[in-house]
Amino acid sequence: MSYQISIQKTQNPKSKPDQNKLGFGQIFTDHMFIMDYTEGKGWHDPRIVPYGPLSMDPSTMVFHYGQAVFEGLKAYKTPEGKILLFRPRKNMERINISNDRLCIPHIDVDLAVEACKTLVSVDKDWIPEAEGTSLYIRPFIISTDPFLGVKPSSTYKFIIILSPVGAYYKEGINPVKIYVETNYVRAVKGGIGYSKTPGNYAASLIAQVEAKEKGYTQVLWLDGVEKKYIEEVGTMNVFFKINDEVITPSLEGSILAGITRQSTIELLRASGIKVTERRITIQEIYDAHAAGTLKEAFGTGTAAVISPIGELSWNDNVIKINDGKIGETSMMVYDTITGIQSGKKEDTFGWVVEVK
Ligand SMILES: *Cc1c(COP(=O)(O)O)cnc(C)c1O
Repeated sequence: MSYQISIQKTQNPKSKPDQNKLGFGQIFTDHMFIMDYTEGKGWHDPRIVPYGPLSMDPSTMVFHYGQAVFEGLKAYKTPEGKILLFRPRKNMERINISNDRLCIPHIDVDLAVEACKTLVSVDKDWIPEAEGTSLYIRPFIISTDPFLGVKPSSTYKFIIILSPVGAYYKEGINPVKIYVETNYVRAVKGGIGYSKTPGNYAASLIAQVEAKEKGYTQVLWLDGVEKKYIEEVGTMNVFFKINDEVITPSLEGSILAGITRQSTIELLRASGIKVTERRITIQEIYDAHAAGTLKEAFGTGTAAVISPIGELSWNDNVIKINDGKIGETSMMVYDTITGIQSGKKEDTFGWVVEVK
């Protein structure tokens, strides 16, 4: 199926950044994708235009009530110069799951994937090639009615912007120190925890700030009711290896269903490793550590792919995991997924999609 996406090229292309000095999310490419929604008309006018500021009325709903959703994925350039996206349909299907919760109208998944591919193709010279670098893709939807009443908006914008990003691990993979958060909670069942929406991030900032002040990189979130069950680590899903079994919290409405999480589960199972999705308490992790059976812990997400956990602090009890070093299972998952994403390893799962 082909869609009529109009393309207006910029008259003032920007100069490209130094590939070896890229950070995260600071530099944006020459173009962006925009499509509008109007009640009664549906989504219309899909277009690629020069990247630039949006002009909006100060009363625009998204500024006041946060009715918005977003996604994050990456494009990679292979050593042969091919451009690959990692499971882009999953992101566009997930944005509709978030949309349902936030009362935002569905987008057409095929059109959204096509928009993503077309935009990446227009700005393909922006995809960095240095080891570990990529082009980060940020699709998002905002409510745009100029109105201060509380109700779902009747107009929206779906936008995609692109940002060349540096290697997440420049000096090898270093396991991080994690603070188990016992005061603040991120989400509860029935809330918006399973949606990728700005409010979840706004709610998590204070815990992140306080954890940093205490010398930790991120927080481990516990459930919002009993503060017993493990949910996520920072903005990543979390996995534990106890004996030979890998365990990750089951999706029960307060956890984001990560695409890296799903890919990790599929990869581990294909490698003959037992993976269990279930509720798991922080006490169980500490008990396994005391018994010597806690082998590894790691977070999963698009930005880092795998982030090994080297230390946990829960109510002032500090435990070290795998001597603060990355474990073999974490390493295998990292090497395989990043290898497939960058075209250096054969994609036996059918995960990557080429952009022509
Ligand atoms: C985006 C996100 C993740 C990771 O999802 P991926 O699809 O693997 O990038 C995990 N937790 C939260 C809260 C997120 O927003």
